[in-house]
Formats: sequence, structure tokens, C-alpha cells
Amino acid sequence: MQTNRRRFLAGVSAIAPFSYLASRGTNAAEIIPASPDYFSDLGVKPFINAIGPYSSLGGNEMWPEVIEAMDYAIRNKARMTDLHDAVGRRIAALTGAPAAMVSSGATGAIILATAACMTMGDQEKMERIPDTSGMPNEVIILKTQRYMYDRSIRAPGAVLVEVESEADIRAAVSEKTAMMFYLLNRPENLGIEVENYISLAREFEVPILCDAATTVPPVSNIAATIAAGFDLVCFSGGKGLRGPYSAGLLLGREDLVRFARMNGSPNHRAYGRSMKVAPEEYLGMMVAIETSLAFDEDAEYERQLSIVNSMGRNLGLLPGITIETAVPVGEAREPYIEIRWDTRIYDITVADMKQALRDGDPSIEVRALFLSNNQLHLTAVALKKGEAEIVTRRIAEILQSHGTGMDA
Ligand SMILES: *Cc1c(COP(=O)(O)O)cnc(C)c1O
Repeated sequence: MQTNRRRFLAGVSAIAPFSYLASRGTNAAEIIPASPDYFSDLGVKPFINAIGPYSSLGGNEMWPEVIEAMDYAIRNKARMTDLHDAVGRRIAALTGAPAAMVSSGATGAIILATAACMTMGDQEKMERIPDTSGMPNEVIILKTQRYMYDRSIRAPGAVLVEVESEADIRAAVSEKTAMMFYLLNRPENLGIEVENYISLAREFEVPILCDAATTVPPVSNIAATIAAGFDLVCFSGGKGLRGPYSAGLLLGREDLVRFARMNGSPNHRAYGRSMKVAPEEYLGMMVAIETSLAFDEDAEYERQLSIVNSMGRNLGLLPGITIETAVPVGEAREPYIEIRWDTRIYDITVADMKQALRDGDPSIEVRALFLSNNQLHLTAVALKKGEAEIVTRRIAEILQSHGTGMDA
């Protein structure tokens, strides 16, 4: 392990932008100039991330342990079936799931899980999807839980059946029903309690899949969601788990995970052959879970909280600004501040502020509009040392340049 680690570090030190080495464990690495600086050479603009590990922004920074494990798997080949078996068993043991597999993101897990529930290991059916004629192909989904990723359920040929109540579910279930779907932690106006939803799936013996993609940290949410009684649960690998960007997890019932694997790579004729997961992603995902389980999440939470609060104090010095500290409900436990300003004093909208920060130098990404109720949010999860001050200074500058001259 030690030898391996040294070799890895020696191997990358000359080429990689290895800012993660500066501060093992947290994201708060120093910014170290890289040589060669690929992005700068390409004219790809760097940015300060005050929003969090979004897919469109490259996801989260991987744990150093994950990078080392990936480096190992790049240099040492194994048969993919052996690797899938062994890593699956290990992840299952770590999480308390009956079985586990690494997928191409949470969305890849949803596709393979749906394919599994429609085909149940039947070779002829697996060959035929997304043509799902003559097989159970209906997936029950709560109307209030329709969301941007439910395309992944439909991708392998499933048809969504929207329900709003227990009575709807009882009327909807038939021999055409392949699966029930649940989006974790979106409890608004569901029309049915989650426990009741799960027990209906039990009663009708319909497999139930839960999308829990962004509910880590805390990593204990993995075991808790499995224990809640879902047959299958999926997570993103490259968000709060800090694993490989394009990896994800599918956990749950042994037969269903086996069927999901049959629909995926490396099986040549599988529907999910294009959702290939690299051996280094397989191993990296396992190590991401191990590392997350050993990490002091409370200390990290306090670290982030202290940074967002200090940003709030800085901005609160301006007249006409109100700051509120909050933690998302049911999402990854990443504290943030919400910033509001009196538009009689500063004549700028939230949308224009977001754009001005993006267009500025340095470019800054903040949460606004999408997932923030049209408010401006700052998080510290992906900020590097010294960046919090830059973010608050830029926001103050932009506000002041839109000052109307009116007093608070
Ligand atoms: C991010 C997200 C996904 C997509 O996850 P990937 O790992 O990028 O495929 C799916 N569902 C929810 C709720 C998410 O937040």
C-alpha cells in the first residue's frame, strides 16, 4: 500500500494538477499551479465553485484514496466478472445491502434496474428491449415525483403510470406492472407515506426502486435507505461519495442486482453495453465508500459551516442585505447561506447576479434559480483555500456597482 502510494505520487507529480494532495481528506486544497496547465493551454476557463459538486461542473473532487485505487486498477488488469463479483460483495458488506453493483452513474443504475425488473433474467426479453411488447413494462411513479431524470426509467422501454394515492396504486397494479419507483426525500404533497408506498409494493410483490442519488453525506443514508425496505436503491458515485465522476451504485435484492448486471457491460449483446464501467471506476467506487465511511463527516460539516457563516458575516456588512444559514432538507448535508438584497438599494436580479459572477474574472458559479427557489445560495463544499473571500468580494462589488443611491 505504502509502496503503491509513493509510486503513484511519483508518477503523477510531473503531470497532473494534483491540488487534492495539499489537504488530504477535505476539499479545501490549496490551489497549486499545474504544469502543463492543460485547461489554460486549451483556453478552457477555470472557475470558483461556490455551488457544489454538480455534474455540469465536473462533479466532486475524488478522495485521494480513490485516485490511488484507480491508478492501481489501471496498471493491474483483472477479469471483469471477477472484479464485478468481488467488488459487489465488498460494497454489499460495507453498506448492509444483500447485493451491489457499480453502474454508470445513478441514471445508469435506474436504466439497468428498470431493465432487470421488466426482463427478470429472461434472455429473449433482454435481447428485445427497448421493445417491451409482451412483457411487464409499466412503472408506477408518484405524480409529484416526476422529475428530470425519469427519462432513465423510460429509456429501456418502460411506460410510466402516474399515481396520487393508495387507491390509485391499487387500481394501477396489474400483470403489466414491472416496478414501483420512489424518489427519496421529496416528501412534498406525495399523497401517501413512504412506508405505506413500500408496503404496497410488498403486498403486490412488485419490486420497488428508490433513487437516493444525492442523499450522501451522511454516508449512513446508504444503509438507512436499504433498511427502509426498498428492493433496489441507487446512488451517484461522483457527488457526495467523492468517487469516480461517471460511476454510481445499484444496491439491493440479490436476484435483481444479478439481472441488472446481465443487462449491462461487459456483456456484449446487453442493452446497457454502452453504459460501460471501467475497472478503475469499479474499484474506485468501492474505495470511495470505504473512505467515506471512515471520514469525520461532522468535522467536515463544521468546517463548511464556518466558511459559509464567515461569507455571510462579510456580506452582512453591506446595507440592505439579509443572510440566512441553512441546510438542505433530504439532500446531501452541505450547509449554505441564502443572500437577499433590497432591490430598492441594489438594482440587480438574482439571475443577473449569477450571470455577472459567471462572466467575471475569476468566473464564479453559485446556486441561483435552479434548486434554490430563485434565491442566491453559496456553499463551501468545493471551495478551495482563499476562494471564499474572492466570492464575497465579487458579490459586494457587483451589488455596489448596481447601487441606486438609496439608503437602507
Ligand atoms: C444527480 C442525480 C441523478 C443523476 O445521477 P448521475 O450519477 O449523474 O447519473 C439522479 N437522480 C437524482 C435525484 C440526482 O440528484
